[in-house]
Amino acid sequence: MADYEVFLLAMRIYISVLIFIFGICIGSFLNVLVYRIPLGIDFKKGSSFCPSCKHELKWYDLFPLFSWLFLRGKCRYCKAKISPIYPIGESITGIMFVLSYVIGTGCELKLALLGYFMICSALFVIFCIDFKHMFIPDSMWITILLGGIVIYIDSLISNGWDKKELIGRIVGSLIVSVLFYLIAYIKPDAMGGGDIKLMFAAGFALGAIKVMFALLVGGLSGTIYLLVTNSLKKENMKKQVPFGPHLAVGIFTALMFGDLIINWYIKLFL
Ligand SMILES: [Zn+2]
Repeated sequence: MADYEVFLLAMRIYISVLIFIFGICIGSFLNVLVYRIPLGIDFKKGSSFCPSCKHELKWYDLFPLFSWLFLRGKCRYCKAKISPIYPIGESITGIMFVLSYVIGTGCELKLALLGYFMICSALFVIFCIDFKHMFIPDSMWITILLGGIVIYIDSLISNGWDKKELIGRIVGSLIVSVLFYLIAYIKPDAMGGGDIKLMFAAGFALGAIKVMFALLVGGLSGTIYLLVTNSLKKENMKKQVPFGPHLAVGIFTALMFGDLIINWYIKLFL
């Protein structure tokens, strides 16, 4: 490797580390949203405290991931166990942000990266809230739509005006959401309104082909989940299962690896 390439690689690793730290901080904020949105609590109010001993937590107890690792998963004051779900959520957000930089924008620090961060954050919140409470907050699908618009503006800046791209995004918005709308119209219990809005927003971010790929991955993820849970617990069979978390997995997969997988698939036939 030439000196220049070594320097470039070192720079990219350094930026990835910074983005990971930024990601776990945002992840810590997303954990708060996941807890507070379903309860209708304003996310700006109040300080954090240990749920076990009610001791108010200081900033050094709240540093994402590292505080939990340093305290070995226990409260500093009462030694009660702190669920690993919080540092796991923070780490997942950090990893999603690093992938946004490495794969999403191809290690470029450009406007689109902000769009990727917005979409990944909203997908994380939707995954958690829909899984537990069976609804998708409006603020989150709107965040995905705005993230898609940011990515589109970035594309306009770097590639210029292209009618085909805009049409692709509009078709993407409608192709799955209209299908979901029709399913909901025929069978009202089968599909939630949140799923329709989610796929409308994601469709603009992904475009027509990748949003269908997202649906495919989401359907696959949901099917595997149903098969596994049904084989573990018989009484779970009739319980309604939210589709949103699986759609979120599908949208994330399509956003990051969609181009890669679709190109590989097309090459099989050439
Ligand atoms: Zn405590």
